[in-house]
Amino acid sequence: MRHRIAVVGGGPAGLTLARVLLRHGHLVDVLERDPAPDARPSGGTLDLHEGLGQLALDKAGLLAEFRALSRPEGQAMRVLAPDGTVLRDWLPGPDETANPEIDRGRLRDLLLGPLDVQWGRGVTRVVPGGRDGVRVMFEDGRQAAYDLVVGADGAWSRTRPAVSPVTPHYTGVTSVETSLDDVDTRHPDLARLIGDGSMGVYGENRNLVAQRNSGGHVKVNAQFRAPRDWPADLGLDLGDAEAVRSSLLALFDGWAAPVLDLLRRGTAFLHRPLYALPVGHTWTHVPGVTLLGDAAHLMPPLGAGANLAMLEGAELAETIASGPADLDQAVRAFEDRMCTRAARWSKITTAGLDRLVSPDPAQALAVFDRVQPS
Ligand SMILES: Cc1cc2nc3c(=O)[nH]c(=O)nc-3n(C[C@H](O)[C@H](O)[C@H](O)COP(=O)(O)OP(=O)(O)OC[C@H]3O[C@@H](n4cnc5c(N)ncnc54)[C@H](O)[C@@H]3O)c2cc1C
Repeated sequence: MRHRIAVVGGGPAGLTLARVLLRHGHLVDVLERDPAPDARPSGGTLDLHEGLGQLALDKAGLLAEFRALSRPEGQAMRVLAPDGTVLRDWLPGPDETANPEIDRGRLRDLLLGPLDVQWGRGVTRVVPGGRDGVRVMFEDGRQAAYDLVVGADGAWSRTRPAVSPVTPHYTGVTSVETSLDDVDTRHPDLARLIGDGSMGVYGENRNLVAQRNSGGHVKVNAQFRAPRDWPADLGLDLGDAEAVRSSLLALFDGWAAPVLDLLRRGTAFLHRPLYALPVGHTWTHVPGVTLLGDAAHLMPPLGAGANLAMLEGAELAETIASGPADLDQAVRAFEDRMCTRAARWSKITTAGLDRLVSPDPAQALAVFDRVQPS
């Protein structure tokens, strides 16, 4: 019997789920709040790991296309001290495919392929336990009923309250993002400083990371420990780019001039306080509803979230496609496996964030030395 399945959210988790199901001949309703795929900037670059995001793409039959679109050279990583001294300079070998980078927009388009996503279908609430199934309420006041609703709607999930009262907490670390365009022609000095992948500078309780996307676009993130309401505390208007720039330059005062040029020449600034769900977030199974990705286990951004989200999407799709006698039991078993694995990664990324934004910058180096040989 074919089940009525809705996926709330067309991010990496939801699209991978729908794409793997499609490969197995199943159609699901993908309900996405954005009015169109290009309604907002798609964000920066993602590194997809061999046993996680790449495995998910393999399950979707998209690994070869991913390899053609991804940037293996983006695995290059340089670490500097605040005075500009190069501490580590890691270059990937010619056949290195452990963590190639891909722009989020390209990944989204790859996953979208033939999928028929319902754009502009913002969900406000998911109500389990109805006679005709799980009710999904939409922003436009309409409703629909399904046998299974998968909440893949990210950090501020509207599906999550159907299974868990827990909401994300502020980690104590905030991030301000700026960017540079055409870096190779307009800022060749900074292009050399950054290299082909990413460049990070780690100081006391703060860091500055610049990362290449395709087309000469670079995203720069300043991360630092601050109260959640620091802009208001400083009387800072986040819409005033020059005021934000001055405030960041004061915060990173004394750092090498070429490093600070990343802030001096950056264009608009975006404030992204980092939130997370508690390590080991789990819930008592609710028939007909489940969560994937950030909705289930939002964690600090240390290269795991999208990878896990995609693998979970692929694995849940395979579970559904295998035609279990009892779909609900199968989903419950999937949740147990997912939450156990996610708890491990939440612990790793939480500890990682503490080291990358630490009173002792040597802690940050230790994180890289664990991941890459120096
Ligand atoms: C700066 C930064 C860098 C990162 N770098 C990496 C990295 O290199 N590697 C990595 O693995 N992870 C990385 N992450 C984490 C990664 O971005 C997330 O873990 C990943 O996007 C989660 O995917 P998702 O599909 O669960 O949620 P999302 O990507 O948040 O997608 C959720 C989707 O649901 C939609 N939606 C939301 N609410 C509703 C609603 N009510 N109704 C309908 N639709 C809705 C949204 O519009 C969105 O399309 C990074 C995160 C940040 C912030």
